[in-house]
Order: sequence, then C-alpha cells, then structure tokens
Amino acid sequence: METTLHLISDLDGTWIPAGPDRRPLRKLEAYIASRPDLTLTFATGRSLRSALRSFGQLLRVWPRNFIVDVGTAIFHARAGGAWVENGDYAAWVGSRWDTRPLAEAGPGWLPAGIRPQPGIAAVRRLALEVESWRDVPGAQAELRERLGRLGMIADVLATGRCLDVLPQGINKGAAAAFLQGRFQPSPPVMACGDSENDIALLGMADLPVVMVDSRLDHRNRDLPWERIHRTRFPGPRGILEALLTLRCQGVAG
Ligand SMILES: [Mg+2]
Repeated sequence: METTLHLISDLDGTWIPAGPDRRPLRKLEAYIASRPDLTLTFATGRSLRSALRSFGQLLRVWPRNFIVDVGTAIFHARAGGAWVENGDYAAWVGSRWDTRPLAEAGPGWLPAGIRPQPGIAAVRRLALEVESWRDVPGAQAELRERLGRLGMIADVLATGRCLDVLPQGINKGAAAAFLQGRFQPSPPVMACGDSENDIALLGMADLPVVMVDSRLDHRNRDLPWERIHRTRFPGPRGILEALLTLRCQGVAG
C-alpha cells in the first residue's frame, strides 16, 4: 500500500510515556497498527542498542526505520525483529566525518569542563557532556572554537547538558530527508519532538509537532512556529491527539 503519511517520532520525552500508565501508548500503537498507509520511523539521540535495551519490553509496535545516534545512522526493520543498517547512508555520513585532527591533537584536546558521555561508542559522532560547574553556552562556544582551530569540520549540537559533535550538516533532519528519498512519491512528513536535537527534524517536516511539556519555545528561532502544532497532552496521548486533529483537517493522510 502506498504511504500517505510518514510519521517520524522522537522517543524520550515524546513517544515514551513519562509515568507508569501504559494505556495512552497502547491506544497510539493500536491506531498506528490500524493505518497501513502510515510509515513509522523513530528518531533518537540514543544508539540502537540503548533504545532496544531501554524500550524493548515497553513497546509493542516497532517502526519500519530507526534513525539513531542523532541522525548519524539509519537502521531498517527486517523479518524476525532484526535491524539492518543502511549502508549507503553510513557511507555518505562517514565521508563527512574525519577525526584525524583530533587523533593528531592527542588526548586532552577537550576544553575544561567537557567530558565524554559514559557508555556511548558511536562511530560517526562524539557524545560529550558539560560538567555541572560550567555553563553550557560557554562550553559549546569554546568547543566550537577548539574544533575549528584543530581543523575538525563538524557541527556542535547542545541538548540540555549534552553536546553532540556531528558530521557537518548531519542530524535527525538530514536522516529524515534521506529516508524521504526512498519513497515514490514522497509522502508528507509529520514529525514529533521535544528537544533541541529535534529542531532540524521539525524544520524539514510538513507537519511539525512539538510536545506540550517541551522546553522548546519561541526563543528557538530556528523552528517554523507558524506551522507548528503544539500538543494538548504529553507523550503518546498528545501524539495521537495530533494525528487525529491533523487528519480531521485533511492534512495527515
Ligand atoms: Mg526527546
């Protein structure tokens, strides 16, 4: 069946319920299962392994595609619950990721107060965090400056106290755009998110949806506020409400 809507959702703070009540998630999953014309993609800052480990027991409906590591890798669902990485995308992102300047700089190149996030071994991304004594904007600016001085071409994305160093131009939005190229014709994108690493994804979406309890607000000038639907409820209940509202308006398939 032809896809009439590509729903791309963040996980933490968006698809994943905050409390113990599973009913809104089950309702959303039932709705997704009832719409074979809808293609579901998850887009997370987590690695695939972390997402599967954390949410494997919770989720009953799985997406067709998984954008992980803040858009630096894409996996597709295969029969039997297997996930296969998209090699074309991996090669394209890899061609934009050259860490030799950092290797040549040796250990200790990181500015004071910035350290690696423990337990994240991503291939085409550096996951860092700002220590509690340092202000995030100052740390982000110094990290950008340091990378530039070393000759490392990369983007620095701040989400809370986390700093992600990503291949230039690569983020959840770039991965979503790559996936859109696989459809003929390409369907409208409805994207749901709640934090800074969702901004590029929300920006490329035809139907951007920001969660009611998100800290994103009009100070984030990169967001297309004139098009954004803000949910009335947090989590899965909010996403389902947005899907039904936008469908009533004839804009979501
Ligand atoms: Mg989130």
